Amino acid sequence: MFEAVIGLEVHLALRTRTKLFCGCAVSFGDEPNVHTCPVCLGLPGALPLLNGRALELALAFATALGASVPPATRFHRKHYFYPDAPKNYQISQDDVPVGSGGALVLPSGRRIGIVRCHLEEDAGRLVHPAYADHSLVDLNRAGAPLIELVTEPDLRSGEEARDFLVEVRALAQALGVSDAAPEQGKMRADVNVSIRRPGEPLGTKVEVKNLNSFRSVAAAIEHETKRQRQLLEAGRAVRQETRGWNEGGQRTYLLRTKETSADYRYMRDPDVPSVPLPAARREAVAAALPEVPAAKLARYLALGVREEDARQLAYDVQAASFFDATLEVYGGAAQAVANWLVSEVPGRLNAAGLGLEQAALEPAALARLLTLVDDGTISVTAAKELLPELLTGADPDALVRERGLAQVSDPGALTTLVDEVLSAHPELVERVRANPKAINALLGEVMRASRGSAKPDLVRRLLEERLG
Ligand code: ADP
Ligand code: ZN
Ligand code: MG
Repeated sequence: MFEAVIGLEVHLALRTRTKLFCGCAVSFGDEPNVHTCPVCLGLPGALPLLNGRALELALAFATALGASVPPATRFHRKHYFYPDAPKNYQISQDDVPVGSGGALVLPSGRRIGIVRCHLEEDAGRLVHPAYADHSLVDLNRAGAPLIELVTEPDLRSGEEARDFLVEVRALAQALGVSDAAPEQGKMRADVNVSIRRPGEPLGTKVEVKNLNSFRSVAAAIEHETKRQRQLLEAGRAVRQETRGWNEGGQRTYLLRTKETSADYRYMRDPDVPSVPLPAARREAVAAALPEVPAAKLARYLALGVREEDARQLAYDVQAASFFDATLEVYGGAAQAVANWLVSEVPGRLNAAGLGLEQAALEPAALARLLTLVDDGTISVTAAKELLPELLTGADPDALVRERGLAQVSDPGALTTLVDEVLSAHPELVERVRANPKAINALLGEVMRASRGSAKPDLVRRLLEERLG
């Protein structure tokens, strides 16, 4: 029996305003070639200047991974010719990256080691117009800042690789390091796959390049594992090579037999001085680190939130900050807030095609709504009916007043209502006389007649009194 051995190389587009070594804007979806300058076009004599914000973000990310950050970091030129890389080299990091070592722990509890993470430039984009005999190049992205993260070969399946990517995405978003949106090319992964019998040394690996969805990562790994198993079972060897992913055919195909690191002719970039990272700076980064998703999860569990809900909130940076802000003003159970933020609120928002950040709902308004339910002023049903207005910024107290939704807890008014329902439904009264458990049917009728505003326990008491 074979097991799969997988290592990932993940690229994250950093959330900076400008590129890694020039002042050109980092943008997605603009007209081609509007964000370029002599530096990112690689014109002779142009000098790169490191983007301090990009360095800051990379340091935060490395620190959150538990990587060790060196006392000084430096940059290398990695040479290759691609039509979308005008300098014919990429400024990257070789021997002293911003982060070495570290790990991420998966929900399964498995610890995935990180080899390194480093800063580097993105390439431009080739555009292949349909039916044309040429390709076009768009250099807006050339020189945009990336973090590359390299894992140890610790992953064992496509599913596990996907779990790892979910973890990386949540971490990058929580730190504000990257939007980590694969569908916008802001998170891309290369996968390295080999197979072996458990306990044997590592087999020959194949690299599959440039997968831009978590689903394709999982599918490429499954396909590649199977392809290699069939080779070995047929008595043949796996060749070390770089393959591409055919999304339509759901299979990998040969791109090139693998280049070695020597082919890149790494050399120190003489134009980029090394960057000192004194202990004080490294400590300041660690001290300023926001709470990471795993820590949030632990905190929510300790508040008594159900694991599934806690995970959903902790791994969604927007939902988590809304949840925290609501708890700051809400005196009730954390699970009550979680219920609303995990199901009611997203349910309504999805129907409108909106995200939480686009809604005008304030944490204080949600807290107030839940308090109105807790103190019996309104029913849960009424609260749910108010949600659409709350999402547009309405005030819960004003809504309750305008709609007359406050639960009727005045026995006089309710008694009249109960009597009306009893005389309108003699057949139900008969049923309850025969079987007291049928009282819920009458209770339902009274609640309907009150349009949800009656206090159910009071109605039940009145009904029981009336029916003896
Ligand atoms: P290369 O020099 O070919 O780029 P690296 O040693 O830098 O190889 O590793 C690149 C990635 O491949 C890392 O994520 C690493 O964990 C993974 N890897 C290395 N050897 C194997 C292997 N035998 N099987 C699967 N993945 C591997
Ligand atoms: Zn530029
Ligand atoms: Mg490599």
